[in-house]
Amino acid sequence: MKSLLNQLIRAIGALTIFACTSGSLESQEKLHVEMLDVGQGLAILIRSKNCNSLYDTGPPDSGIDTMLKNRGVKTLCTILLSHDHSDHAGSLAALEQMAKNGEIYINRVILPSEIARGDTLADFLPWTARILFPVQGHSMAGNASSVTMRLSDGLNSFLFTGDLEAEQEKSILELEPLLTVTALQVGHHGSKTSSSWDFLAQTQPKIALISAGKNNSYGHPHPETLAKLNLILPDTTQILRTDTDGNIKIEWVYGVGMWK
Ligand SMILES: [Zn+2]
Repeated sequence: MKSLLNQLIRAIGALTIFACTSGSLESQEKLHVEMLDVGQGLAILIRSKNCNSLYDTGPPDSGIDTMLKNRGVKTLCTILLSHDHSDHAGSLAALEQMAKNGEIYINRVILPSEIARGDTLADFLPWTARILFPVQGHSMAGNASSVTMRLSDGLNSFLFTGDLEAEQEKSILELEPLLTVTALQVGHHGSKTSSSWDFLAQTQPKIALISAGKNNSYGHPHPETLAKLNLILPDTTQILRTDTDGNIKIEWVYGVGMWK
């Protein structure tokens, strides 16, 4: 009888803890990070209480203007471009046209040449958004110059890598030997020239997001990259692809966790 009573007390205790946790979850700050299905390209919409921001815009025909309208996005704090290739920066003109039409307000556009390692964005506070790469005064261009940003709440993190290649992943690990990430935007649409073993083994992503166009002519994502992710990720159902899954939305509760 006594042990039954103890069990009951323990059960009530557990319920109370759960109720408290779920109660506080509602008041917790949330971020929504959505990899938009823009075809062969990249655009990630980050929505917080204070700000909507974009990491890349997708190719010229991405349809991102309609996507933002459908989501009720009327203000963009920041458009951060990873590099100047058209599959990432190609819809900037369409967004600027929206701004001209009064359909959206764009606070600022950050070009790759205007930001470097050590810079931070205050858009998502209390989350920190830190630029890891490239370093100031670099002379790289194209994919190699992709602005890499780590968004973190101290418990979980999301790494945005643009089209970063294996050689620059190595440079990042030299600068950040203890780098880990919870969610990884897989570099260069899952190309085999990115996502080196060393980089994946060190960063230990739990969620991998790949932006690639359906039946794209580049063969992205490459089977070798998928094979590596299948070995590295603890749960392979967390390999997510816009070409097969469409828009990929991650919900992130500050200090608690992130999930699809
Ligand atoms: Zn690209």
